[in-house]
Amino acid sequence: MIVVQKYGGSSVADTDRVKSVAARAAKARREGNDVVVVVSAMGKSTDQLINQAHDIAPEPPGRELDMLLTAGERISMALLAMAIHEEGHTARSFTGSQAGIITDAVHGKARIIDITPGRIQEALGGGHIVIVAGFQGVSRDSKDVTTLGRGGSDTTAVALAAALDADVCEIYTDVDGVYTADPRICPTARKQDTVSHEEMLELAASGAKVLQVRSVEYARNHRVPVHVRSSFSWADGTLVVPEEDHMEQAIVSGVAHDTGEAKVVVRGVADQPGVASRIFTDLADEAINVDMIVQNVSADGTTDISFTVPKADGNAAMRRIQALATELGFGEVVMDDDIGKVSLVGAGMKTHPGVASGMFEALAEAGVNIEMISTSTIRISVVVREADVPAAVQAVHERFGLGASDTTDAREVTS
Ligand code: ADP
Ligand code: ASP
Ligand code: MG
Repeated sequence: MIVVQKYGGSSVADTDRVKSVAARAAKARREGNDVVVVVSAMGKSTDQLINQAHDIAPEPPGRELDMLLTAGERISMALLAMAIHEEGHTARSFTGSQAGIITDAVHGKARIIDITPGRIQEALGGGHIVIVAGFQGVSRDSKDVTTLGRGGSDTTAVALAAALDADVCEIYTDVDGVYTADPRICPTARKQDTVSHEEMLELAASGAKVLQVRSVEYARNHRVPVHVRSSFSWADGTLVVPEEDHMEQAIVSGVAHDTGEAKVVVRGVADQPGVASRIFTDLADEAINVDMIVQNVSADGTTDISFTVPKADGNAAMRRIQALATELGFGEVVMDDDIGKVSLVGAGMKTHPGVASGMFEALAEAGVNIEMISTSTIRISVVVREADVPAAVQAVHERFGLGASDTTDAREVTS
């Protein structure tokens, strides 16, 4: 079997953890598998590197920031290789570039466009455990090192598993699977045995950072079997499976939250064709991912447009819009980063009315004010004050009976 194992930051947080990861990889090798290990940077070191960069420059050049951040994963890969040697096995560590992870040239959120895993296959052929630095690649056009966005090691792992036709991609983290809500803020959250690609995509896109959204897209498109599990135990985790293998089709399957976005409000925009297009084309040109968009009903020929963007892109978005001030003649543009998004996800929502009203009722009872709403066929998201996020998650989770001890009929088998 070919096994890809990915270990996140907390799984390699210190040298003892690195040793225990080495023992796990060695065990998989002793069992006769070809083993490829993808590692994240140790503990919170990516955050620390980002802070150091920002101490020097408020908006560091993307090329240099990527150069800096890729160093985090290099440290863990080399230490892990040493620890595996101590376990009596041989290991070869590779940077993303050496491993053949080819990306586009967008710094900070590059997309993998090709994988040329020749060196990995050669090292596996030589009987070595292969270690690959997660979260990074290289652009063929610019020849520069890139990073894949926060949480990107998940995507490195799934993409490598696809390229190597691995039998399983194990994502080792600090929780033992995908829960019905983030167990850190929702004590009654329940671990799920399986979750479908579709649901996992919506959960990840809504902020459940246990898997990076692109890793789920990759797993779905290339049919990679993903097993999310804990590096701190041997318990089975959660399998991320195609729709047809997901037996327990719940009306709602989970609640996700995201406090990584900011709200931008453009006030007093002329209510005429082309204005929204102008604003959002400019943001797209800057590679800013706009999430929720709300346009108010106009009064006196003007309207307000509000949208959310990742906090990290907030300043760039403000700058871009301010540059349009004379052309569009709007009133003012303001940013608010004290917000959080709470989303309810479930494939069964498509056919069950009343889910939205149930969610809004639960929030009202918890005294949480809703500032924005958006929906897809299998998701309802609201923007609330950041401080209200835990209460909102718990209230919605409880309303739909998602908890470990709840037995309401919100989860039912619809085949
Ligand atoms: P790693 O460093 O291993 O990549 P992350 O911090 O990126 O770990 O992801 C794991 C974290 O995701 C957990 O500690 C948990 O707080 C959070 N999380 C959010 N939503 C969920 C969920 N639905 N199920 C499990 N964990 C979740
Ligand atoms: N080290 C990177 C981050 O903290 C990538 C990852 O952990 O997946 O986002
Ligand atoms: Mg992660």
